[in-house]
Amino acid sequence: MIVVMEKHATEEQVSHMVEKVEALGLKAHVIVGAERTVIAAIGDKREETKQSLESGAGVSAVMPILAPFKVASREVKPEPTQVKTGSLTIGDGVLGVIAGPCSVESEEQIIRSAQAVKAAGATALRGGAFKPRTSPYSFQGLKEHGLQLLAAARDATGLAIVTEVMGTDDVDLVARYADVLQIGARNMQNYRLLEAVGGAGKPVLLKRGPCATMEELLLAAEYILNEGNPNVILCERGIRTFETHTRFTLPLATVPYLRQITHLPIVTDPSHGTGHTRLVPDMAAASIAAGADGLILEVHPDPENAMSDGYQSLNFQQFEQTMELCRKVAEALGKKMGAAVPVA
Ligand code: PEP
Ligand code: MN
Repeated sequence: MIVVMEKHATEEQVSHMVEKVEALGLKAHVIVGAERTVIAAIGDKREETKQSLESGAGVSAVMPILAPFKVASREVKPEPTQVKTGSLTIGDGVLGVIAGPCSVESEEQIIRSAQAVKAAGATALRGGAFKPRTSPYSFQGLKEHGLQLLAAARDATGLAIVTEVMGTDDVDLVARYADVLQIGARNMQNYRLLEAVGGAGKPVLLKRGPCATMEELLLAAEYILNEGNPNVILCERGIRTFETHTRFTLPLATVPYLRQITHLPIVTDPSHGTGHTRLVPDMAAASIAAGADGLILEVHPDPENAMSDGYQSLNFQQFEQTMELCRKVAEALGKKMGAAVPVA
């Protein structure tokens, strides 16, 4: 249920309604909008509950939330959410670009990558320290040492760090180093992990599972939001189809579709979405044209010798050209590419 407060409802009235919602055994999420404050009361649909809330002082209306996802829906929060952490701002008209290698491999590799992507306009650095690999015999990541190297790259460039957390046991460790916790496609429906990152106090980049529907993606986001973490970035990274010319199929209609039903920022991942370096620049530009709030792109100093996903990684020059192309599309749409990062 949504409790819509009157335009000039006082803080006391809002707090009183939060207490009332909680006393009814429901979870209260307060969303302060430009126009008015609403309280999403999650957990019950009984008519008596509605009536009891309607009588509260300062309450304008109580309405059911029709979407199966609640806190993520535009019904509850019509204004777009902007996620901000360190150098990264994403959403509400500001585009964020997260770029870097698939895996952190060495100090030299990650620092060089951070410097190059920053120079070309990226606003955050990606790099996997814990890698979800299809084969147990493939490179699994440098784990905590990889996180330390990411922190060194942040110190050197000022770029915020986006890195994957694969298991609940690792959440505290990864959250100690990362600015944004990435939930990989394979873990989109790992509900205990979603709850754990919801409570970790860091923004979360949630990747769509390759076989997940939009509703499943938004319900996964709901697990994180429901823990009181409002900073969720959704990522379309491609789905599994019958098509074999690309590694996955990158459905860009996801972007305008999600835009209409959720206030959360949406980025795309043309690297995993296509699996081919040569397809990445155009799909990146197309994502911006479709209304994406940003991109996550794999960039490597020497893609041919990368320890993972080299075949879909851009080299530094290709990344620069991709940024140039995206900037033109962004300008045409009246959007800003994330602000330049101050020198560390
Ligand atoms: C990655 O970002 O390197 C990654 C493993 O992505 P996904 O979870 O989308 O496969
Ligand atoms: Mn990868």
